[in-house]
Amino acid sequence: MTVRAISQIGERGVWQRRAACRGPESVLFFAPTLPEARPERESREERAKAICRECPVQRECLDYAVRIREAHGIWGGLNETERRMLWDPSAQYTETEFAETEFAEG
Ligand code: SF4
Repeated sequence: MTVRAISQIGERGVWQRRAACRGPESVLFFAPTLPEARPERESREERAKAICRECPVQRECLDYAVRIREAHGIWGGLNETERRMLWDPSAQYTETEFAETEFAEG
């Protein structure tokens, strides 16, 4: 483990103690190991994002996930595709990725 990784864990530990996603509902924030159909993924992610909207450390969580380029899961109310747009505004959604975001109509 690198010095950087250790410092990131220390930083994360401070605000994560106040995270609303601690406990049994934490499973909502990451895809299951088995294949997940799109409607189930959308439902799971929406339930996770609803928890994020009420979380007292949403800003810290999102800042952290964007800074370390966290590649998986819901962090700070955004999924991995939505976060990627924050750290790389030049990134273009594929048509499939965009349709899966909350920015898509319908
Ligand atoms: S913003 Fe969401 S993912 Fe981040 S700590 Fe809060 S509940 Fe958990």
